[in-house]
Amino acid sequence: MTLRVRDLDESGLLARFVPLLPGGAATIVGPGDDAAVVAAPDGRYVVSTDVLVEDLHFRRRWSTGYDVGVRAAAQNLADVAAMGGRPTALVVGLAVPGDLEVAWVEDLARGLADACAPVGAAVVGGDLSGGPVVMVSVAVHGDLGGRAPVLRSGARPGDVVAHAGVRGRSAAGLALLEAGVVSPEEGAPGAAGPYAAFVGGFLRPAPPLAAGIAADDAGATAMLDVSDGLLRDAGRIAAASGVGIDLDGGALAPYVDDVLAAAVRLGGSSATEPRAVDRALAWVLGGGEDHGLLATFPPEVTLPAGFEAIGSVLVADGAPRVTVDGAVPADARGWDHFRA
Ligand SMILES: [Mg+2]
Repeated sequence: MTLRVRDLDESGLLARFVPLLPGGAATIVGPGDDAAVVAAPDGRYVVSTDVLVEDLHFRRRWSTGYDVGVRAAAQNLADVAAMGGRPTALVVGLAVPGDLEVAWVEDLARGLADACAPVGAAVVGGDLSGGPVVMVSVAVHGDLGGRAPVLRSGARPGDVVAHAGVRGRSAAGLALLEAGVVSPEEGAPGAAGPYAAFVGGFLRPAPPLAAGIAADDAGATAMLDVSDGLLRDAGRIAAASGVGIDLDGGALAPYVDDVLAAAVRLGGSSATEPRAVDRALAWVLGGGEDHGLLATFPPEVTLPAGFEAIGSVLVADGAPRVTVDGAVPADARGWDHFRA
């Protein structure tokens, strides 16, 4: 018989969930008391929160509990990294329907743990509730280690625009799943098929967390994590900094090549369907939820490991603020098209 959430009381479920959560060096008092105590050696802390709601941000027929745990942690960890901080502690609010398998909840904890492991962040507490659907609300805290936070507003004309992480894979994976041509299992951890990187990238984004700290150390003038698409998020830096951003189409070509196999799998050579390369470019420019880092650096800076130059910061020349090779991208369909 499958054990379900309704078969346990709250303390019974917590007894299974809490031991699977990651610990971390910054934790002074972890789960079990009324609140946690976390070291903030910097004297300041970075804090952010993100919510995932079933059927709005994920679907249980595609995402395992493990996938949702990874994703909930990753998008929060990326927000701290994008400030130049090191994530230290997460608190997790979880609402679950009574018919949910207990194993799904345990898997969620394992996903949180694996996503937090590379940076040593802990889950220090949270809350558990019943609910009509699964909802995961994470609040993340981070430490700047004496560095200045990197804001969106510091880009200056002449700066180099650089990106760390993957681009377009999440949108490609979502498109493959939506089209029904690839199964979620083909993106499971350890899967090695031709579409594993796309489906896995959608189900379990892996932000380049260490690159955020490296960017801050290198003197990044502005930074954010690309959650809503390259064009849209570059536009946020441009707007906050009062500058223009021109992306280099040639520098984006490797990202297009990276997702081309997924675009080819979806076909698209008829008059009404975009060509595969156009589809791939739309994912690169418009696809969200890869959580790569987009940053600007003074021109004399040697880019830190993981960053590739993809454009330059220009004097603002009125709207539009973001161009590719000097022109407004002809196909910006991706801006909202790929949101789950
Ligand atoms: Mg963000």
